[in-house]
Amino acid sequence: MTTYTNFTVETDADGIALVTWDMPGKSMNVFTSEVMDELNAIIDQTVADSAVKGVVITSGKSSFSGGADLSMIKAMFTFYNEEKVKDPSTAAQKLFDLVGRMTGLFRKLETSGKPWVSAINGTCMGGALEMSLACHGRVASNAKSVKIALPEVKVGIFPGAGGTQRVARLADAQSALQMMTTGQSLTASRAKAMNLIHQVVEPDQLIPAAKQMIKDGLKPIAPWDEKGFKAPGGGIWTPAAAQLWPAAPAILRRETAGNYPGALAILKSVYEGLQVPFDTALKIEQRYFTQVLQTTEAFSMIRSLFISMQELGKGARRPAGIAKTELKKVGVVGAGFMGASIAYVTAAAGIPVTLIDRDMEAATKGKSVSEGLVKDSVGKGRLTQDEGAALLARITPSADYADLADVNLVIEAVFEDRDVKKAVIEAVEAVLPEGAIFASNTSTLPISGLAKNSKRPVDFIGVHFFSPVEKMMLTEVILGKETGDKALAVALDYVAAIKKTPVVVNDTRGFFVNRCVFRYIHEAYDMLIEGVPPAMIENAAKMAGMPVGPLSLNDEVAIDLSQKILKATVADLGEAAVDPRHLALINRMVDELDRRGRKNGKGFYDYPAKPARKSLWPELKTFYPQKKADEIDIEVLKQRFLVTIALEAARTMEEGIVTDPREADVGSILGFGFAPYTGGVLSYIDGMGARNFVTLCEKLAASYGPHFAPTALLRDMAAKGETFYGRFDPYAGAKAAA
Ligand code: NAD
Repeated sequence: MTTYTNFTVETDADGIALVTWDMPGKSMNVFTSEVMDELNAIIDQTVADSAVKGVVITSGKSSFSGGADLSMIKAMFTFYNEEKVKDPSTAAQKLFDLVGRMTGLFRKLETSGKPWVSAINGTCMGGALEMSLACHGRVASNAKSVKIALPEVKVGIFPGAGGTQRVARLADAQSALQMMTTGQSLTASRAKAMNLIHQVVEPDQLIPAAKQMIKDGLKPIAPWDEKGFKAPGGGIWTPAAAQLWPAAPAILRRETAGNYPGALAILKSVYEGLQVPFDTALKIEQRYFTQVLQTTEAFSMIRSLFISMQELGKGARRPAGIAKTELKKVGVVGAGFMGASIAYVTAAAGIPVTLIDRDMEAATKGKSVSEGLVKDSVGKGRLTQDEGAALLARITPSADYADLADVNLVIEAVFEDRDVKKAVIEAVEAVLPEGAIFASNTSTLPISGLAKNSKRPVDFIGVHFFSPVEKMMLTEVILGKETGDKALAVALDYVAAIKKTPVVVNDTRGFFVNRCVFRYIHEAYDMLIEGVPPAMIENAAKMAGMPVGPLSLNDEVAIDLSQKILKATVADLGEAAVDPRHLALINRMVDELDRRGRKNGKGFYDYPAKPARKSLWPELKTFYPQKKADEIDIEVLKQRFLVTIALEAARTMEEGIVTDPREADVGSILGFGFAPYTGGVLSYIDGMGARNFVTLCEKLAASYGPHFAPTALLRDMAAKGETFYGRFDPYAGAKAAA
């Protein structure tokens, strides 16, 4: 047996070398520079050893591999930026050579002359799938945990180590494009149906089946290296291809509005690559990859969606020196719309929950939500019967606060009413054990105000979920004036346990996410009032990269909730704090027309019975004199949406509500889908530069109102040429300590 740091190589009596990838101290295998060096050495070793007839590569962990490591991707950007400073004329060439390293390594494996089989025992993503595709045989376990994907496009890049070329030479072009431009996960059997995998076997048969492929005489030659090879369907000069290719860019444009350079590069790489010999095709892919890596979109998306998301998930904001809390039991008070789902996600994470409401009937009704969700998951094969039963057994409905005597954490989700919350805080604290934390899920009431009802404000914090709780990956953790480090640590341990991403914010009306969301919705009100046709408002938002139009979103959150918030703002801050035309519009919708949104089947949209789809309510157009389409600049509508949200986010930084740009960026994408290609609200500003952003704000302010006026912070940043990531450097602490 030969042992490397990350691999072991063991050759059996049949001359088959089993390469087991098992990186020390990591929960998942990833490609690092060292892993590539070792894989290179293993190829050399197995080629040189005449006793080796073939190679099986597998993983020693429960998953196969997640693909490229953060540090490697980060290093590419750093490398390019440094090279650009040294010599701009050669920087791109050097980046091209660097990104070709993985491509070259996999090509070396493929042409080594000995057959390689990848034995995929668990999730196999990105670079790891690209390596497997370079192997001559691929066997996957049929375990439910096996997911096969090239998800690069989701973080702004694309499969750049031969993936676009090998997938398009194995699968039909349409499935190949679909898989890579969406980054979707395939089950092992779907991957086999697409011709990406040769065999799917029981987990315990994986290695024997892989070895058998070699014993059966697997040829060490890729199909595309055989004479006369033709891509499935015959390549691009066929009648079928003539149907597909002219439509492909149009479909991509419909899905992405041209906002994602990585997605477009997939189309180009496949289309051009299929017309040339394989090694030239790899060069084409490598060239597009080099180009995409230089885009602002790739840089910003990788930073937010890959690096920052992982860092926040791993507790970047967790106070040091406080031991991790193993949550033995969590109490949820209020088993309504939110509380019922909070109980579900908690139980799904393996934590016992006491679910309290005013009476046993209401508490039991709350638990029935979990019963429905479990039934659904079991039906879809995501949970076994036993797992579902165990999950439900962890939720105990109750109407007795005494049942909270042994919890580590209570989450309150009762009515949004100060007096009701006050009574609940007092009742809970009467039984809550020493050291346990109280969290409120309030969406509008400042945490410091609620904490005034608490005897232990140090242990009082906000944990703000988003609906639907089972799907939304974000939680806002809100610090009241007196909230202590222990409360923050426990809240973050809880958020990590339920596998959501936290952003930690200071107390303010609307916290971070809702402040930004309502700017988005209010800009749509402005546009309606100006006479922009509603369909154009919705389409412009989607073209700007927002997943849901603002009117549709308002229907989801409920129009009467908007009314409540506007009224509360007037009550607390005075008439001048809201636009009277907004209030008039919303009062008309709610009070006169009873159009409250999706929940009562009528809002800005009509919601006919299924299978008919929702459509914009035709009468909405009669509210205001309509502008003609050619009087409206769609680009300006797009800018208004992104700028008004980004400006609000900048204000939260200026006010010290959000302190870390990573949290604003990740929170904006996970919380309300802020145009992901920008990397989030602050990356949007950094990406164009503070100076350009300020100029744009001034232009919009002149035509569309003072809410677009740039703030003092932005002007200062523009004058100094600063970025948010420079001025509020999230790594400043770590750098100072180093
Ligand atoms: P809801 O009306 O669906 O549920 C509230 C539940 O609290 C009801 O089951 C009610 O019986 C129970 N309750 C009321 N008084 C109680 C008491 N004294 N003791 C025990 N239980 C009591 O409301 P919801 O939409 O789930 O909202 C709950 C909280 O979550 C609010 O603070 C709201 O602002 C916040 N929130 C809501 C959303 C959302 O999308 N609805 C999102 C984030 C946060």
